[in-house]
Amino acid sequence: MDITIKERRPEDKKMIPAFDAKLGFGRHFSDHMFLMDYSSAKGWYNPRIEPYQYLNLSPAAMCLHYGQEIFEGMKAYRNEEGEIFLFRPEENIKRMNRSASRLVMPELDVDFTVNAIKKLVELDKAWIPPVKGYALYIRPTMIAVDPFLGVKPSDTYLFYVITGPVASYYPEQEGKLKAVKIYVTDKYVRAVVGGTGEAKSAGNYAASLRAQLEARDAGYAQVLWLDGVEHRYIEEVGTMNIFFVKDGVLYTSPLTGSILPGITRDSVIKLAPHLGYEVREERLTIDEVLSGIESGEISEVFGTGTAAIISPVSHVAYRDRDFEVGSGDVGPIAQRLYETLLGIQYGEIEDPFGWRVKLA
Ligand SMILES: *Cc1c(COP(=O)(O)O)cnc(C)c1O
Repeated sequence: MDITIKERRPEDKKMIPAFDAKLGFGRHFSDHMFLMDYSSAKGWYNPRIEPYQYLNLSPAAMCLHYGQEIFEGMKAYRNEEGEIFLFRPEENIKRMNRSASRLVMPELDVDFTVNAIKKLVELDKAWIPPVKGYALYIRPTMIAVDPFLGVKPSDTYLFYVITGPVASYYPEQEGKLKAVKIYVTDKYVRAVVGGTGEAKSAGNYAASLRAQLEARDAGYAQVLWLDGVEHRYIEEVGTMNIFFVKDGVLYTSPLTGSILPGITRDSVIKLAPHLGYEVREERLTIDEVLSGIESGEISEVFGTGTAAIISPVSHVAYRDRDFEVGSGDVGPIAQRLYETLLGIQYGEIEDPFGWRVKLA
């Protein structure tokens, strides 16, 4: 399949925002988007790059009523030399295919899709901030578009990719991370085994908003989710996976079926031993975590995800108590993992695992 490219006319090009702290996250969108249609008769067809524009969608489109939607989140990085890199992009498309399978949606050809994303990023490369910590966020999305009211899988789909420049997710100054406070909920659950927690699908996030709001109101940045059955085991935090440093060993929840299998999580699991740290994928209970923080056995807590890469946690609140992790500062292991991952992503240091994909 050849990708048709329709470029925005130079006089219609949008203003690229300044690459400074005001840039924020997820508010600006680049000049072009990739689109491709699917029908059960034809498979995927009409792959094209066009100016960024509103979609033409039936108000009866099934994605709007029954939530048959999946998405991905990845980044393109540009360094001062002008080199542009993607980070493990095939992993995102493979995960999207697993999400697709769970939501009974059509799978993508991994190589074709990564190639389409490369073309799109290349065309809008002026939008990639050449500033460390900043990146071009890439949002592949798939929606069910049959105009039909009735609960069944759609026969037609739209896959599209939009991009936009982003600052680091949490404010950060001169390479120094900022720790965030998190709030444990035992009132709401994100996912249960057998549900859709493993898929990056819209409904999971709509279902998390109420808990997120209550956490914000109480002064916390993110919700720490416990397992959906016993409300005891740590699962993940907000839209990140979570790690604990206990007696110098890194712990993270195993992929039980209700946790989103993060690519940053997987990268930390592979990178940490390379830096001399042991990693264990073991379930920890909230009680073990809180007593570990209190005794000092747990010296660091941090989240991992594409948006923030590594997000250190300074406080964990549960019921009416608030526990400070270590001295509330960014821990040395979180800082080291952050610097190493960023160094790899921006092409500054050796890439021992071959994770970088260099664009032209
Ligand atoms: C996207 C996401 C993550 C992190 O995945 P990455 O591939 O590391 O970005 C973790 N948890 C949830 C719920 C997510 O949506």
